[in-house]
Amino acid sequence: MAIGVVTRVLAGFFDVTDGGQVTRCRARGVFRKRNITVLVGDRVQYQATGSNEGWIEEVLPRQSELVRPPVANVTQAVLVFSAGNPEFQPYLLDKSLVVVSQAGLEVLIVISKVDLVPAARVEEIVTPYRVAGYRVLLMSVKEPTAVDLLKGELKGHTSVFVGPSGVGKSSLGNALSPSLGLKMGEISEKMGRGKHTTRHTELFFIEDDTYVADAAGFSQLQVEIPSPQLRLYFPEFEAFSGDCPYRGCLHIDEGDCAVKAAVESAQLSPSRYQSYQQLYDEVRHREETRY
Ligand code: GDP
Ligand code: ZN
Repeated sequence: MAIGVVTRVLAGFFDVTDGGQVTRCRARGVFRKRNITVLVGDRVQYQATGSNEGWIEEVLPRQSELVRPPVANVTQAVLVFSAGNPEFQPYLLDKSLVVVSQAGLEVLIVISKVDLVPAARVEEIVTPYRVAGYRVLLMSVKEPTAVDLLKGELKGHTSVFVGPSGVGKSSLGNALSPSLGLKMGEISEKMGRGKHTTRHTELFFIEDDTYVADAAGFSQLQVEIPSPQLRLYFPEFEAFSGDCPYRGCLHIDEGDCAVKAAVESAQLSPSRYQSYQQLYDEVRHREETRY
């Protein structure tokens, strides 16, 4: 029996991709009895019955399961933000970093459209993230080699692409696989018009063991971390927090806070710290109004 990945769910049918080859499968009734929903991204055992047709026999254990979009076995989030046009949005990037880390995904930051701003500005944008230990790729339509670097970072992963509209996600998708670019373009257009559409999530085959899911909706997720733990999602604070007078210092209102001192002396990025404060306030507000 062969093993493949579910790349599309249609009414009652599942497209199972195996080395780029697609088999349209039905699922055995036993899944319904066992209350198993076959998701896009599931690795399945299947039996081919004819030319490009078959049956799913078994769903292999999931490594992860995202609720929105409903995709199984995603391992990496690619956060795409532009250096300009639209202007770089640090708060949205920082919030997305927390959300995807919370979901247990590996993270790759792509700063796109670096051709539109001076090199010094690109440095300014990127440095805090490299300092914090994130992988960052610079992308420009004028540097097609960057796409090869991106491909290298995708290898072996099922990735979701996340980012505001207009930052160049469809252009990137297109460079990876024309059908992916087309799909991402549709999403951007619909979001731009503010339409609510019921879309079906799809997985795109890039190469063996390497898939990309379109992921509208992911960035609307809320941070579900208790406020005292939020600081752990800003890994660069750790180099200083040991010098805070209180062990549980939240780096918010405490006196003699070493993290705040590091921000004032520009050893830590003020922009990252601002995002932390803003997120902390948001989470606190939700905690206080929950009951
Ligand atoms: P999406 O909404 O995130 O899918 O963004 P698109 O891929 O549709 O790109 C939005 C616009 O930015 C298009 O006009 C692209 O041609 C342009 N664009 C994409 N990447 C780059 C880039 O690296 N540099 C420049 N200057 N423009 C880009
Ligand atoms: Zn502190």
